[in-house]
Amino acid sequence: EITKETMGFQTEVKQLLHLMIHSLYSHPEIFLRELISNASDAADKLRYAALSDSTLLGSDPNLEIRVGFDEDNRTVTITDNGIGMDRDDMIANLGTIAKSGTSEFLKNMTGDQQKDSQLIGKFGVGFYSAFIVADKVRVESLKAGETQAVSWESDGSGEFTIEPAEKSTRGTRITLFLKDDQKKFANGWELRSIIRKYSDHISIPILMEKNEMPSEDEENKDEKKAPEWETVNTAKALWTRSRSDISDDEYKEFYHHISHDYSDPLKWSHNAVEGKLEYTSLLYIPSKAPMDLYNREMDRGLKLFVQRVFIMDKAEEFLPLYLRFIKGVLDTNDLSLNVSREILQKDPQVDSMRTALTKRVLDMLSKMAKNDPEQYQSFWKEFGQVLKEGPGEDFANREKIAKLLRFSSTEDAKSEQTVSLEDYVSRMQEGQDKIYYVAAESFNAAKSSPHLEVFRKKGIEVLLMCDRIDEWLMAHLNEFDGKQFEDVARGDLDLGKMDSEEDKKAHEEVEKKSEDLVKRVQDVLSEQVESVRVTHRLTESPACLVVGANDMGAQMRRIMEAAGQ
Ligand code: ADP
Ligand code: MG
Repeated sequence: EITKETMGFQTEVKQLLHLMIHSLYSHPEIFLRELISNASDAADKLRYAALSDSTLLGSDPNLEIRVGFDEDNRTVTITDNGIGMDRDDMIANLGTIAKSGTSEFLKNMTGDQQKDSQLIGKFGVGFYSAFIVADKVRVESLKAGETQAVSWESDGSGEFTIEPAEKSTRGTRITLFLKDDQKKFANGWELRSIIRKYSDHISIPILMEKNEMPSEDEENKDEKKAPEWETVNTAKALWTRSRSDISDDEYKEFYHHISHDYSDPLKWSHNAVEGKLEYTSLLYIPSKAPMDLYNREMDRGLKLFVQRVFIMDKAEEFLPLYLRFIKGVLDTNDLSLNVSREILQKDPQVDSMRTALTKRVLDMLSKMAKNDPEQYQSFWKEFGQVLKEGPGEDFANREKIAKLLRFSSTEDAKSEQTVSLEDYVSRMQEGQDKIYYVAAESFNAAKSSPHLEVFRKKGIEVLLMCDRIDEWLMAHLNEFDGKQFEDVARGDLDLGKMDSEEDKKAHEEVEKKSEDLVKRVQDVLSEQVESVRVTHRLTESPACLVVGANDMGAQMRRIMEAAGQ
């Protein structure tokens, strides 16, 4: 039994609403995209639920969205016959922000309207965007399989009410009571053009009442005709269409829809595969990293469809963790409609698809690196750190990933990581057979490491590493193009092949002359160091510490220390 009740929004919702109502958005029309997107999700959910309970579709099996308006009363309505919501759903979904990352987002707000509006535009705010254009919003819904409809209503100022509603058809109807200055949206032409612009890719029909020309025939004027509806969008799942028929704008809008990221994607790859495996994939590389990229628990994975039927969001099994930034859709005929997460984890077909999709992404990146280095650089800036997890995670693709890595180096001594291993190898000195690197806590520490002195003298390039992940990366890379990596701060440094005969003679002399000194230093420091040696790796500093060839690196040591080990 549902009685009328008034409830308060969660604090975060209030903050978000406050922001929107003060029109941080420069594009108020996005409310329609958000509400249609939700209606489409509701249709997906119903279709999925109906796989195990076909009675849910009942006498109303054609899933669709209707958009209506009333110019005189300044209302817009969005109606769907999807899964619907009951009282508890409404309180949970329309009273709180369940979406992960929202509080993160609110924490990042600066108070600067300009900056914050950009942030919010990138974030996508879903249902609450209704309050950008409306000063009152009513949501009436009948959940599939239930009999009592519920109504939710709010003016967006802090509270909402819930009460029983009269609605006998399944699904949700949202009524927006437009603010005076937003009344232009109660207009057929306006709504149609927004739908075509932002929601064309929605795979079910979005219907609007046909614009009848005013009847010439005055006699029939008052006769009530049943309204005629027409489909405004293309209404075909975007990934099922052929690439040549899809515009860049359509690809971008589809990205916004599936990713909740409102910046444009950097790149995408759309492929239909036939043969042993049958699937269509549409994979996107975002242009900006999400705030929780380094949280390995972040939402990730592809939107999974089986034979066009939506199965689940965030299917994680189709890409490795180091590619967790990829967004996209996978639609396959090779899995059963009853597929569950448990099955996904064991199915060998899933493994094959994962291998193929991983290759697809790495190829997309290789191509970008080759054809558009500038674009690749902007990718690297956002996601390079995560890609560096790759060699440790994906042994089979180690070489391919290695080619995609970018580093700082003594070549240009810029903190921006732009040097590829291929660049490095092409600049190697005569007789050089190793790839040298130095790892330090910060870029500046790496750049001014005393270990670099002899390399500078000999004109040998050294990679400068200072990311936390670097030592982990180097532990898994071993070699590139047949050349071993060597930490210049470790063990004996043998640059012998590049020394001239004269150099060698001079070295021997110095060593002989220093025997006494070495012994004395060794005695004094016997507690602190393992051994003391004459070195030729310094040109300016009198002494430096090195780590044994097989000991833990200095950076790893610091991380372990910080972790209390
Ligand atoms: P998101 O779509 O990212 O989950 P929204 O703010 O757009 O976030 O929507 C919040 C939630 O409200 C949805 O996840 C869904 O559970 C529910 N919801 C919104 N609109 C509808 C609808 N038309 N039908 C059913 N549920 C809906
Ligand atoms: Mg939404």
